[in-house]
Amino acid sequence: MNPGPVMTHERVRSALAGPDMCHREPEFSRLLTRVRRKTTAVCGGGDEHTAVMLTGSGTCAVEAAISSAVPEAGGLLVIDNGHYGERLHHIARAHAVRTHRWELGWGTPVDLGALDRLLAADPGLTHVGVVHHETSTGMLNDVAAVTAIAHAHGREVVVDAVSSVGAEALSLRDDAPDWLAGSSNKCLEGAPGLSFVAARKAAFEALGSGPRRTYYLDLHRHYRAQEEAAAPAFTPGIPAFYAFDAALDLALAEGREARLARYTRLAQQLRGGLEGMGLEILLRPEHRAAALTAVRIPRGLTYAELHGGLRRDGFVIYSAQEQLAQDFFRLSTMGCMTAGEIGSFLSALERLITERHR
Ligand SMILES: *Cc1c(COP(=O)(O)O)cnc(C)c1O
Repeated sequence: MNPGPVMTHERVRSALAGPDMCHREPEFSRLLTRVRRKTTAVCGGGDEHTAVMLTGSGTCAVEAAISSAVPEAGGLLVIDNGHYGERLHHIARAHAVRTHRWELGWGTPVDLGALDRLLAADPGLTHVGVVHHETSTGMLNDVAAVTAIAHAHGREVVVDAVSSVGAEALSLRDDAPDWLAGSSNKCLEGAPGLSFVAARKAAFEALGSGPRRTYYLDLHRHYRAQEEAAAPAFTPGIPAFYAFDAALDLALAEGREARLARYTRLAQQLRGGLEGMGLEILLRPEHRAAALTAVRIPRGLTYAELHGGLRRDGFVIYSAQEQLAQDFFRLSTMGCMTAGEIGSFLSALERLITERHR
């Protein structure tokens, strides 16, 4: 029940054992192009969009987007309302990008009026960084509204959609975020090891004129290799590509809305059960993403006892981070999970709590 890597479909797991392959042969070219096309589709992209694949976890894609997209003379307004917003700031700092870190407080929704004023006050903030699903709290940020305001000021938006893409509503065409960073192993239900940045082709091409902050994560380098030569710039994680190819087929067959509905049903069952035991859920219902629930650690138990006890019953739960770690833990409902499994989890949790209070 950790928020990625998730439990995967049998077809995804068995795809990992595909044949040995040279990445400079036509077979890999075809695999790469196919995966890029399907990735663009799951991001809601049209013919004018594309996705650049990277071998690395979600942070790799976020770092590639920030370090490549913000020009030397530009600046990044970081919307920080959780651990991953804070990470955007740290990434930008590591690349000497001028940043304005806007700390809202964990779990505090974005004040759109204040965003408008911040952008108006500082034309040097050429880009806005925002996390779609802030996995530290389970909060869903309104990326569409943030993008509309940023665009009204002529700014670009870099979205960390690592834990939302494939399930929560966010579309390159409809919501028009300029740079969308995602990964293979969360709501897209692939194996870990791949991430991607999706954007307009013209935006990737426009990167060509500027100086580079990074060699390995340079999105223009990856774009040119993948788009013009249908080849990876560097040795790719081939088994992760096999698995992601299969996972993307499953995602496209299910459809984003149906996947969101499936996660939502699991989350409702889970949240209903937790509240039935008197446990407190962190956020107000209207702010919660479907894929994650942050819940207060039951009285009389430590996180370690909770984790150990549930693990003995076959369930892996996930700690909260930093300021929430002491009092909360996290449960994900993304991946191949069934209502029966959520039911068994709730029974196991209830047993653990009852034993403790006897
Ligand atoms: C998981 C996650 C990441 C990436 O973390 P990795 O450890 O690099 O996979 C980035 N942003 C968010 C919101 C995430 O949930």
